[in-house]
Amino acid sequence: MSRAKYDILEDGPDVLCIVDVGEDCMSVTNDAEAVVTELAGRLNGRRLEYIDTMGERDQLLVKDGKFAGFAPIPRPCSSCGKATGDVEERYSFGIYAGKLCLKCCSNYRDNCGEGQPQGDVTELDEFERGGYDAIHGEG
Ligand SMILES: [Zn+2]
Repeated sequence: MSRAKYDILEDGPDVLCIVDVGEDCMSVTNDAEAVVTELAGRLNGRRLEYIDTMGERDQLLVKDGKFAGFAPIPRPCSSCGKATGDVEERYSFGIYAGKLCLKCCSNYRDNCGEGQPQGDVTELDEFERGGYDAIHGEG
């Protein structure tokens, strides 16, 4: 099998994204080590992402100029819009609060259960009166 073939799809300030265009050759997934070694020099701290032959977008982790594994693309926080890598589905007082980064969790009185127990609605009088919005937090 010959080496993977790819095109550069995006050459932005934060990310270099390639797309697998190979046929009858290795996929970027299977040739990741060589692809990363080839591109490491032009990353300058940027993320390396790739779109595989199935159209799935993933991240190629790079450590010391070498391939260090695959990872999901950091998703943007639904509150501040930053893709910080710690964005997860968060719940506050048992109510779905959104896909939030850790920083935005601090807008919630129970910190979305981060580092402390999830809030208990029955202990929150304001909830009944509509004084506190567990869906949007205080921010
Ligand atoms: Zn956020």
